Amino acid sequence: MLSGWVEIDLSAIRHNFKAIKALVGPEVKIMPVVKADAYGHGMIPVSETLIAEGADFLAVSYVEEGIELRKAGISVPIIILLGIFPKDAKTVSSYKLTPVVYSMELARALSDIARENKKDIPIYAKIDTDMGRLGIFYKEAISFLKTLKKLPGLDLKGLTSHLAVAETNPIFTEKQISRFKKIIEEAKNLGINLKYNHIANSAAALQYKESHFQVIRPGLSIYGIYPTDALHEKIALKQAMRFKTKIIYLKKLPPKIGIGYGHTFVTDKETKVAILPIGYDHGFPRSLSNKGEVLIKGMRARVLGTVCMHLTMVDITQIPDIDVGEEVVILGGQGKEVITAEEIAKKAGTISYDIVCALGSRNPKKYLNNTKCQNPNVK
Ligand SMILES: *Cc1c(COP(=O)(O)O)cnc(C)c1O
Repeated sequence: MLSGWVEIDLSAIRHNFKAIKALVGPEVKIMPVVKADAYGHGMIPVSETLIAEGADFLAVSYVEEGIELRKAGISVPIIILLGIFPKDAKTVSSYKLTPVVYSMELARALSDIARENKKDIPIYAKIDTDMGRLGIFYKEAISFLKTLKKLPGLDLKGLTSHLAVAETNPIFTEKQISRFKKIIEEAKNLGINLKYNHIANSAAALQYKESHFQVIRPGLSIYGIYPTDALHEKIALKQAMRFKTKIIYLKKLPPKIGIGYGHTFVTDKETKVAILPIGYDHGFPRSLSNKGEVLIKGMRARVLGTVCMHLTMVDITQIPDIDVGEEVVILGGQGKEVITAEEIAKKAGTISYDIVCALGSRNPKKYLNNTKCQNPNVK
């Protein structure tokens, strides 16, 4: 197919994991988040790479993702972040997955299956410390835990919660962390054993030591993307994803010629245009029309006109010696220039997560630096 491709550098994933580990210290366990096909990077190869590096757990959104990981031979604990339906209790038990629990109905269903199979089911209790989303509201957490404790067959591993504004609001983030801490302490005073508690996403894990507890749950930073610009000083991450294509056509246009749908760009001088076989259907945001840039021969070339479904036009007037077939870097580095997912996201009015998820799910992937896995946790 004449389009683009995504390259995933697994050595960057290894580098990021090690850098995060070095920052948080050896006591803190790491639960990389590999939901959404590892943010578009490919759940299985990324998970195998992380486990080989010593990841202690993995986190996904759905039961189906957990099953896929088990079928690939991955044996570390797998947490289902979004919770499950009571009807999925049996599946969770047979695949040894670890659900989060925030309703008594689910807790009872899991307890019943555990007793039936005579096998305890590991769970986390999910507390809403004010994200206003999933979880037992923090004011009701202790009474929930008291009831949960009475149910047989449930192996409560710890508490979990999620931060709403870790990137932007330290005061509120500290508040969520201290609420979480208080509940853990109260629960321990009631004789509830909580071994692994976790609340930190990338933004919190890299900024707030007090958010670490026993386990951190980084997603974005594992893939080498910074949750905030300020963190560039604190840790050196390597972006693992690149998106590339090749020029399929070149033309020289005189002044006053409209380019693409709607003629949203009109040449003001003689302009050399390169046509790229990628567009919004490949995850290159349409909002980059007349705004985005790509790298050709290590130089920036601006998008001209509207990004089409499968084509994008760029200005190469200033770039010499270009032929059809020349490689174009849309995400990633070339020569001394780099285009990051954050840069694209900012220009497109979205977040970096959105960019890598879209590119990763819509383009063929090539893996670079895939070393054969030696870890006994992967069969
Ligand atoms: C996605 C997710 C994370 C990871 O967040 P990043 O910002 O990508 O580090 C952690 N915890 C939960 C519950 C999540 O849904």
